[in-house]
Amino acid sequence: MTSYADFYRQSIAQPDAFWAEQARLIEWQQPFTRVCNYDKPPFVHWFEGGTTNLCHNAVDRHLKDRASQAALIYVSTETGIEKTYSFAELHGEVQRMAASLKALGVQKGDRVLIYMPMIAEAAFAMLACARIGAIHCVVFGGFASGSLASRIEDATPRVVVSADAGSRGGKVVPYKPLLDEAIRLSSHKPEAVLLVDRGLSPMPLVAGRDQLWSDLRARHLDDQVPCEWMASTDISYTIYTSGTTGKPKGVQRDTGGYAVALAASMKHIFEGRPGETFFSTSDIGWVVGHSYIIYGPLIAGMATLMYEGLPTQGLDKQPDGGIWWRLVEKYKVTGMFSAPTAVRVLKKQDPALLRKYDLSSLRALFLAGEPLDEPTARWISEGLQVPIIDNYWQTESGWPILTIANAVEKKATRFGSPGIPMYGYNVKLLHESTGEELTQPNEKGVVVLEGPTPPGFMQTIWKDDARFVNTYWKSVPGKMVYSTFDWGIRDEDGYYFILGRTDDVINVAGHRLGTREIEESISGHAGAAEVAVVGVADSLKGQVAMAFVVPKDSAVLLDAAAARKLEGEIMKRVDQDLGALARPSRVRFVSVLPKTRSGKLLRRAIQAVCEGRDAGDLTTMDDPVALQQIRDLMGAA
Ligand code: ATP
Ligand code: MG
Repeated sequence: MTSYADFYRQSIAQPDAFWAEQARLIEWQQPFTRVCNYDKPPFVHWFEGGTTNLCHNAVDRHLKDRASQAALIYVSTETGIEKTYSFAELHGEVQRMAASLKALGVQKGDRVLIYMPMIAEAAFAMLACARIGAIHCVVFGGFASGSLASRIEDATPRVVVSADAGSRGGKVVPYKPLLDEAIRLSSHKPEAVLLVDRGLSPMPLVAGRDQLWSDLRARHLDDQVPCEWMASTDISYTIYTSGTTGKPKGVQRDTGGYAVALAASMKHIFEGRPGETFFSTSDIGWVVGHSYIIYGPLIAGMATLMYEGLPTQGLDKQPDGGIWWRLVEKYKVTGMFSAPTAVRVLKKQDPALLRKYDLSSLRALFLAGEPLDEPTARWISEGLQVPIIDNYWQTESGWPILTIANAVEKKATRFGSPGIPMYGYNVKLLHESTGEELTQPNEKGVVVLEGPTPPGFMQTIWKDDARFVNTYWKSVPGKMVYSTFDWGIRDEDGYYFILGRTDDVINVAGHRLGTREIEESISGHAGAAEVAVVGVADSLKGQVAMAFVVPKDSAVLLDAAAARKLEGEIMKRVDQDLGALARPSRVRFVSVLPKTRSGKLLRRAIQAVCEGRDAGDLTTMDDPVALQQIRDLMGAA
């Protein structure tokens, strides 16, 4: 067996040989003639001359060996629906959807915007687009009309696929009125809207534009729609970044490189084997949903479990903090992918729930999206008794940049570290102002990638090559490297630690401080459950740090004296850890922090509210109360 070090070294030193080998994991219609074209940096073209199709590799390819095996397992604790589609059945549904889209005029290269809840039809729609060569643009169902409108405007879709409503914690969220409003706001108008009627919310149709999936499906029940053979470099989809730090960027991805990257990561990182079941708790609206709910597991010949609902509610709609473990047992899930925020929710449940089910099928739990704190990691690792594998990546990368590739070589994980650079990623740490490479252990720098970026990585920003180059490749003086905009350090064994985002730096009286370090200091206080620190404009000092803390003991929220005492203790702790400069000007206590639904702290919004500005695009917030509390507290100040 090769060591990971050798495997990695080859990927960087001989990328053509390395990736040509990985490319054998998928099926090509026409073989490629050139592995990596990096003639015009930073743009990379992978597998030129080759033709393939994502849907072929995810579905059709498996019909020969596993037509009757499970492909899509759909479970909704919101509607009580639980249904398994075999590869043959999935193939049928995808063809019906593909035929319907074609009937609505969709052609190769056209955009189809998908604004849908977590229902099986959303998976059919994505795969159908891939099948006919349409570019899908999935917009997270938690977005409201304003954000949706700007994405319709940017993507200019010929057709939108949507549904009457989503549902969250038993509460119906009508989508159709939001979509109608978004189309009204947008100057671009789609020609048709294809709607799934779940029977959750009344849905008046716009004559001449709106079509029901049930009608079209019936009309195209037996249609055969062959896969469109796509150039490897043809666009498969666009997806927007979370917008945690700024205006969302339309990340554009290719076809062949992405398929190879996913096939390789399913093998080397996620250890997925054909016939097994993968369960990613993310949403199709995020990149994890694209890569590891839909395409990755299916390309690997696995069944993928698609879940709609909270992690704390059962199929009978009664509270059930063990629902995910029940599903792991029932479907013999071997690999599970989630986010630290979801684990923190589960951590509040009865720990006995973890022992109630037979979880022996599970080999590993992968977590990504935000820093994995040690208490959360320890709790879940003790509970599950399987490796907990953190992985660091971005919408831009499409698959992990830092993690552990256990199928190449077993390696220990390290608390607080998402791991080591994955094959194909030439990861470097650079000094933030000189741009010099940091080679000594434990030096803090900006995490960057040297080109060529590996297969699966974004091609460009949709319709905006200039923004792609200027945003990502020009931030370090004198060097063309891709900036992740995250801080990191590397220890003596090569493990990386992510220390927060480069724009989470505040400037207090001329001193630059990372809000993440202040947060870590505060988290070390036993009375703090969760914390967010933002920089707020200050006429005297430029900026000051403002801390918002969810106390372990909620009594603090109601008891002014207890709050003052805890505030004093926390400030003292920051003084001791980082010095008085870093001390927040105030520590405020809240019951919940504003987060996106993927668990990212909305620091940008907190900061805006603190400075009395409009909080911006907040519609994917989990809990609207969270920001109101901060607004009230700041108003009272
Ligand atoms: P935008 O770029 O629009 O501001 P965003 O960066 O939040 O939004 P994503 O692509 O969803 O959008 O998130 C990627 C970021 O999430 C990374 O750059 C990093 O800051 C953080 N992140 C992801 N995984 C991890 C991890 N395992 N550990 C620490 N941070 C992580
Ligand atoms: Mg980002």
